[in-house]
Amino acid sequence: MKIKGLYVHIPFCSIKCPYCDFTSIVLNNNQVYEKYIDALKKELSLYKDFHFNIETIYFGGGTPSVLPPKLIGDLIEFVYKNFKIKENHEITIEANPNTYRYSQFKEIKSFGVNRLSIGNQTFNKKHLVSLGRNHTPEDTINMVNDAVKAGFENISLDLIYGMENQTLKELEEDLNIYTSLPIKHISAYMLTAYEDTPLGSMVLDNKYKLPDEETTTQMFKLIDNYLESNGFYRYELSNWAKKGFECKHNLFYWTDKYFLGIGVSAWSYVDGERFGNTKNLTEYFDMIGKGKKPTKFREILSEEDKRFEKIMLGLRLKEGVNINLIKNKEILKDLQNEGLGKIKENKFSLTQDGLMLINQIVTRLF
Ligand code: SF4
Repeated sequence: MKIKGLYVHIPFCSIKCPYCDFTSIVLNNNQVYEKYIDALKKELSLYKDFHFNIETIYFGGGTPSVLPPKLIGDLIEFVYKNFKIKENHEITIEANPNTYRYSQFKEIKSFGVNRLSIGNQTFNKKHLVSLGRNHTPEDTINMVNDAVKAGFENISLDLIYGMENQTLKELEEDLNIYTSLPIKHISAYMLTAYEDTPLGSMVLDNKYKLPDEETTTQMFKLIDNYLESNGFYRYELSNWAKKGFECKHNLFYWTDKYFLGIGVSAWSYVDGERFGNTKNLTEYFDMIGKGKKPTKFREILSEEDKRFEKIMLGLRLKEGVNINLIKNKEILKDLQNEGLGKIKENKFSLTQDGLMLINQIVTRLF
């Protein structure tokens, strides 16, 4: 099987948000950015013997839009020159609302970028502050308008829910603004207090209170029902899109396709093997400088591991999983009777209530 997706991790941000557990550092230095893009090209060259037929490139982070567009273009050109790329490929860049404007969008579009994923999180000023974000609601609205003016049709906005004291009314006001914008995709995530983040410590010290499970369940249902009745359909647990605007790259992760990740902390899945890069930028530069792949972690999946992953990831999808993957068919019938799942033709998928219990359901299936 060929590698279809290329993920490029850009580990630089203009701030560090207190809830963030992604690998990123606060840095504004064009020389380091150039050195990093150069290292990414060298890393890619180390994989020339792999079989590629690239359908998607995804610049994630971090904040890829802290880079000058020309550097993004350099890397894309390098990929075009050296690897097999399928026609009609998708190239996504994640952008934070107070970075690119019209001229930068024009420029990255000319390099082939055709999808934007904007890290908005919320339009509520109070919650933007509590999330430690350094942008305003107007920044996002201006960014979306500039992107549309520059010719971007495929725009996604992130939404975070479950902040301290967030009400359902506030969430609904957010959704009202999201659905009034010319965007095609929304990714909605529940705020999570990861260990080793400032938010994690605040929650442990009772200085920040996350809502209880009943409230977050109500919030998820509100998001799902609101978006479904406003032209977006949920194709994955956390992702809603207008028809035809699903994120092709992320679908590769959930449907067991091969992808290569390059850059600090990036993960890959190729030939039944998962491997991940060092999370340390200095070590990354050092290994690349020595002509070595910056791989730090490696795991070969057994047939049973692969089956488990296919079920776990497939249940996140609207279309569900092939029932032949599940050995105990009786449980599927039980889940259907409990209103948690549906069997249609040869697929088993979760209902809205089932999705809320996805982890318990995966445990039951195994
Ligand atoms: S901007 Fe994004 S990647 Fe950077 S610290 Fe904030 S959440 Fe993390």
